[in-house]
Amino acid sequence: MPSKSTLCNSITTDTKDRPTRRAFLKSVGAAALAAPLLFNSSWAQTRGGRTRPSCVVVGAGLSGLAAAYALKRANWDVTVLEARERHGGRVHSFRFDQNRELVCELGGEWVGASHERIRALCREFDITLKDHRFEASLMRDGRVLRPGSWDFSAQANAAFEKFKTTYHGYKQRDRERLDRIDWWTHLEEIGFTPDDLLLRDLQDSTDFGESIRHVSAYAAASEYLESSPANEMDFKMVGGNSRLVEEFAKRIGDANIRTRTPVEEIRQQQRGGRVTVRAAGGVLYHADACICTVPARTLDRIKFDPPLPAAQRDAADRLQYSRIVKNQILFDERFWGAENFSLVSDVTSHYYFHGTRDQPGAQGILCSYAVGEKADVLAAQSDARRMEIITRDLLPLDARAPRLARAIESMPWQRDRYTEGAYAVYRPGQWFTVRPVLQRPHGKVLFAGEHLADWQGFMEGAVVTGEEAAAALSGRIRARRRA
Ligand SMILES: Cc1cc2nc3c(=O)[nH]c(=O)nc-3n(C[C@H](O)[C@H](O)[C@H](O)COP(=O)(O)OP(=O)(O)OC[C@H]3O[C@@H](n4cnc5c(N)ncnc54)[C@H](O)[C@@H]3O)c2cc1C
Repeated sequence: MPSKSTLCNSITTDTKDRPTRRAFLKSVGAAALAAPLLFNSSWAQTRGGRTRPSCVVVGAGLSGLAAAYALKRANWDVTVLEARERHGGRVHSFRFDQNRELVCELGGEWVGASHERIRALCREFDITLKDHRFEASLMRDGRVLRPGSWDFSAQANAAFEKFKTTYHGYKQRDRERLDRIDWWTHLEEIGFTPDDLLLRDLQDSTDFGESIRHVSAYAAASEYLESSPANEMDFKMVGGNSRLVEEFAKRIGDANIRTRTPVEEIRQQQRGGRVTVRAAGGVLYHADACICTVPARTLDRIKFDPPLPAAQRDAADRLQYSRIVKNQILFDERFWGAENFSLVSDVTSHYYFHGTRDQPGAQGILCSYAVGEKADVLAAQSDARRMEIITRDLLPLDARAPRLARAIESMPWQRDRYTEGAYAVYRPGQWFTVRPVLQRPHGKVLFAGEHLADWQGFMEGAVVTGEEAAAALSGRIRARRRA
């Protein structure tokens, strides 16, 4: 998720030497994955005298691809089953026919300075990361305020600074208490004025994809107080994020990734047997284990035999995904001026940013990011009408905006059949209750994906959970071989 709440200079973060949600929860996540798996000695296949275990990975998003790549390197037989016609899931780079030189992102966008695994993979795959930090203007009530000329009130800034200090001394019970209320209410309680709350909601809602009235205060606080100073909006991959997807796919082997293969059932024999995965059309895949990376909202379309425990099904039902429509508009001129331009706004789109910074040519692509109810409204329009609304909203910035617009490509994630939203939104009371339940393995089926990660909502989280699931499996087989 993009995360931009530190755009106003006065609210910055410093995470040095502090206990963090990532470090704190790592032990919890690892414990969940290490829960006993029901393997017995019959689980490994013998091929040419060598033991070579097998795994079916459901989903070819970053989580599934990272899991498959890690297993392949550990000498597993891996088959990845993907419902869509393409790899990458919520990572999807896009080029307009009218200008093939420019690349923009319809899904995941920035790489954070703290996103160690993504950064390491980019090094390994020779993908260049480029500085992509923005300065933000604010458009409110028809006026545009340039970077540095707008801020929260002194009262809100002081309250936030004080909260930061308190937060870093939090014990587990304090975190759980914070999780039980929403971010808006918490900010109100610490002293944000009504005007500050509205501004904060405009900013932070683009990080969560819903109003901060619906977001766990713990999920928000840990997000903002444990991230890089640019809130993980630090870099972008040169050539587009799909390059990471392609490099994974190359190494896993295209033949091992089946697209247009929606999984309908995951069946396990009682203790020690194999896993059978049934895809649409009745095709069966047999393996020793399965890693399922589908977003929680779509889990109920897969039949589990034996069924998932009621608590896990219930947790999946309760976890909501955010409503975000990303609209990429190709303009004949970069009328917004600075290459590092971005704009928080109170119009239909909560946020605009220049997605083709430093890419060649006069044309440029401005991304309009609408969330919550506004995203639903925009998603319901035709392309032509959407382009008209978005460019008309930009009139206070530059009267030429509607005239310079050439083409639009929109991706309303809440309407996407295979995610039903952009990323998981942990609502009040859910971080410490829903997430651990969803992380539990189900026999020989392990779960992974953005929604289960400490870096929840980020590409980093997807990759780390995929790699952790693979490590839980390959660690298990290594232990067996030693014994
Ligand atoms: C609008 C938007 C902005 C974002 N911004 C950022 C950002 O700036 N920085 C950042 O780091 N992250 C960002 N993210 C988040 C990041 O893109 C995701 O966290 C990550 O890509 C999720 O990967 P995943 O593998 O967990 O899930 P997915 O990518 O959703 O992969 C799951 C796969 O499972 C497939 N699937 C579903 N059901 C089935 C089935 N029954 N059978 C077979 N396959 C199935 C799906 O088609 C999908 O390909 C953003 C995401 C969105 C949508």
